[in-house]
Amino acid sequence: MTTPRIPATLISGDGIGPEIMEATLAALDALGSPFEWDPQIAGLGGVKTSGDPLPEATLESIRRTRLALKGPLETPSGGGYRSSNVRLREAFQLFANVRPARTIIPGGRFDNIDLLVVRENLEGLYIGHEHYIRIEDDPHAVAMATGINTRQGCKHILRYAFDAAVAQGRKKVTVVHKANIMKALTGIFLETAEQLYAAEYQGQFQFETMIVDACAMKLVLNPWQFDMIVTTNLFGDILSDLVAGLVGGLGMAPGANIGADAAIFEAVHGSAPDIAGKGIANPIALMLAAAQMLDHVKRVDLADRLRTAIDQTLNVDNVRTGDLGGGANTIAFTKALVARI
Ligand code: NAD
Repeated sequence: MTTPRIPATLISGDGIGPEIMEATLAALDALGSPFEWDPQIAGLGGVKTSGDPLPEATLESIRRTRLALKGPLETPSGGGYRSSNVRLREAFQLFANVRPARTIIPGGRFDNIDLLVVRENLEGLYIGHEHYIRIEDDPHAVAMATGINTRQGCKHILRYAFDAAVAQGRKKVTVVHKANIMKALTGIFLETAEQLYAAEYQGQFQFETMIVDACAMKLVLNPWQFDMIVTTNLFGDILSDLVAGLVGGLGMAPGANIGADAAIFEAVHGSAPDIAGKGIANPIALMLAAAQMLDHVKRVDLADRLRTAIDQTLNVDNVRTGDLGGGANTIAFTKALVARI
């Protein structure tokens, strides 16, 4: 009897997206991928083909599959269209951004890192309520932004993080905030965390709270004191890139966007326009995102095989892309990896 395949939306994305997606699909095919892909378009590709960076057909596909693997999507800075990534998070209420960081290449400055950053993905200063105020002839004389955090939103992400800590046997959870300055906006997150821990999770893991600036410094001085970090949207965005830097940079960092109705898996990095089309991009972050997606659909066996193959290609075969100091291009790296599966 054959197991039914799992429908999943596939968005290759912009820039290096198609190159790293092709590599990731080759790895998944070699594993015996459980997914039945529905290829769709978004980002700059969407603008070029239909004038919409998030076409209705793409949304419809994710509504149906509730699962997607996504390459990076280009977003213009300043003006232009709104980030398709942010719109996807809103459309599917993807409230949790989950970014694991693990040392894969030993012997670097930061060895033996195994850290999980959980970021609130829908609220805070990223809700896009911002505008300029004109004064005399300067239309951008004043810029204003409003952040919103709700009790319900804080509880939702904190419960998700605390449950993940218990499920993964994490020893410590650090709740990161800036409640000394933004007393209401991030105070509500701190207060909710303290209340939720005391009411329901006491004794299940060590609980600590930390101000974001101190956390950034401590992460660089001694990252091993952390096990798991949970924080609000903006701080999570910044700290998770910092943490990615500890384990070899953005080329190694995957991320999952989890909601009640859908889950979207992606590399943390962007479309890397500077190297797009050159065939030299590192596909590991997207491959690790595919491994997270396999974990999510309870195919931990396949996810572990993929992670082991990545480890061996890097450390036993010594095949690495340029960003990791190696000489392999994307295709050569992928060939070596597939041989390890
Ligand atoms: P970027 O992550 O694309 O690139 C930053 C640097 O890292 C570049 O030098 C790039 O060459 C390098 N890099 C990134 N990924 C790499 C890889 N896999 N292998 C080797 N080198 C890699 O960030 P950016 O230049 O600030 O953003 C470019 C575009 O991507 C923007 O339009 C931005 O909005 C978008 N973006 C999308 C996502 C997403 O879809 N999740 C995330 C971040 C940025």
